[in-house]
Amino acid sequence: MLIPCQECRTEYAKDWTWFVCDTCGKRICHQCLATVGYKCNDCAFGYFKDKN
Ligand SMILES: [Zn+2]
Ligand SMILES: [Zn+2]
Repeated sequence: MLIPCQECRTEYAKDWTWFVCDTCGKRICHQCLATVGYKCNDCAFGYFKDKN
């Protein structure tokens, strides 16, 4: 099963290494994490955490 990155819309497997915002739940791939960093740009105080 593939699910889309909520930043770049690229689809990856569900068990891919996702990073999930601890506040709003936004889910991004590690390529996007390298681009945008750990601070979530969709909410005021969220940080992306390694889901695995
Ligand atoms: Zn992405
Ligand atoms: Zn967030």
